[in-house]
Amino acid sequence: MSISIVIVGSGPSGFYVAEALIKSEADVSIDIIDRLPTPYGLIRGGVAPDHQSTKRVTRAYERTALNEKVRYYGNVELGKDVSLDELRATYDAVVLTIGMPGDSKLGVPGEDKDGVIGSAAFVGWYNGHPDFRNLDPNLESEKVVVIGNGNVAIDVARVLVKTPAEMTEADLPRHVSDAIQASPINDVYMVGRRGPVEAKFTNVELREMGNLKNALAIVDPADLPDEVTGDWSDRDRRLRERNLESLRGFTSASRDGKQKSVHFTFYAQPVEVLGDEKVTGIRLEKTEVIDGRAKGTGEFFDIACRLVIPAIGYALEPLQDVPFDESTGTIRNDDGRVDDGVYVAGWAKRGPTGVIGTNKPDGKAAAEQILEDIPSGVKSGRGEFETLLKSRDVRWIDFEAWQRIDAAEVANAPPGSPREKFVTTEDMLNLLADAK
Ligand SMILES: Cc1cc2nc3c(=O)[nH]c(=O)nc-3n(C[C@H](O)[C@H](O)[C@H](O)COP(=O)(O)OP(=O)(O)OC[C@H]3O[C@@H](n4cnc5c(N)ncnc54)[C@H](O)[C@@H]3O)c2cc1C
Repeated sequence: MSISIVIVGSGPSGFYVAEALIKSEADVSIDIIDRLPTPYGLIRGGVAPDHQSTKRVTRAYERTALNEKVRYYGNVELGKDVSLDELRATYDAVVLTIGMPGDSKLGVPGEDKDGVIGSAAFVGWYNGHPDFRNLDPNLESEKVVVIGNGNVAIDVARVLVKTPAEMTEADLPRHVSDAIQASPINDVYMVGRRGPVEAKFTNVELREMGNLKNALAIVDPADLPDEVTGDWSDRDRRLRERNLESLRGFTSASRDGKQKSVHFTFYAQPVEVLGDEKVTGIRLEKTEVIDGRAKGTGEFFDIACRLVIPAIGYALEPLQDVPFDESTGTIRNDDGRVDDGVYVAGWAKRGPTGVIGTNKPDGKAAAEQILEDIPSGVKSGRGEFETLLKSRDVRWIDFEAWQRIDAAEVANAPPGSPREKFVTTEDMLNLLADAK
């Protein structure tokens, strides 16, 4: 009998596990489930809507999904429609590739006020993730503060200040682009606890901020050291030198009629979100970096705003029956092995770091471990799984149904844009029902 494997989560790491299993040419049957009807995880719901070339990686995932050994079951959630124990009873191996879907906490007073929206939610909203369809962020604010100095912070800032013309080829849902374009946002502050050398931007993303049509990137020259000091690998040092060079370039750029600004606010940490129920501003403390760590100087300043977007990291809520490592916030594992027949890969294993390709070796490692641990299949897998779903009236979306959703999104696209996304599961299910 084939080794039956279920992969929970259809983001990059899930697809890399499947791809490595197929490449091994072992006798395997692979089912991929996802809680959303749509596949591809953060490629659809995280990667910026104006960076379509990055999203093209899904073409390779599509080839994997169409392989004869693979079946896709969208709209099936671990922990709601099926439990880990049930999957373990049904499949020879279960691979958890569920990512880290939640936001890390800022850890300052006032962060529960209306108007503080973590980047997982905010990015999910502008990317049409069904969980955030009704987020309705308050964009009635001239100033927005984004906390964090990584690529996600840059994505958020950029999407808020780009012109409609710059977003033509993006796939922002219509209600999102309408809301952003109608907003009075003029100034986006990107606040980093540490300095430009410690910032985690990659250089392509940083440089793009110097080429925006209607927004000027503003940096205080006093924040820019003459050279990169500290203990960095050659690669990291070169990246930081390139970033410093880009930031220096920003300091001499002229406004040229640009109406909006993105302020790179280094050496500042949030201490309190201000306001009653709703955010009216944020209090920041200036910092200095000592031995690579930010230390408050006791000097404070406020930025008045109605929207604060922490982009400081991601979190995973513990799931029933799934061992959890409180110290790392990931699924507890020994180099990818979780328990007998249970494996983990991707962000849920390593934490929220690296680029899409970083998940590939993880996927390969999980596939190798499965084939090492389980020489032949004993559990029936797919048939029994479908029987279980039917007994619970779970309406799953197979890959062919996803392709129909995909085709409808492409057909509905405004001129220049690749697609107009469906942003609720209900709309997707209705489309499929209508087609029948
Ligand atoms: C905002 C943002 C922008 C990014 N931009 C880039 C970029 O431009 N370039 C780049 O290289 N990298 C980028 N990344 C990083 C990249 O997206 C990640 O490395 C990658 O997506 C991690 O893959 P994953 O499969 O571990 O998790 P995910 O992509 O998060 O996939 C997890 C999947 O599991 C599903 N799932 C979760 N819980 C359950 C459950 N209980 N039951 C069933 N299914 C479940 C989810 O719906 C999701 O489809 C970005 C990340 C973010 C957050």
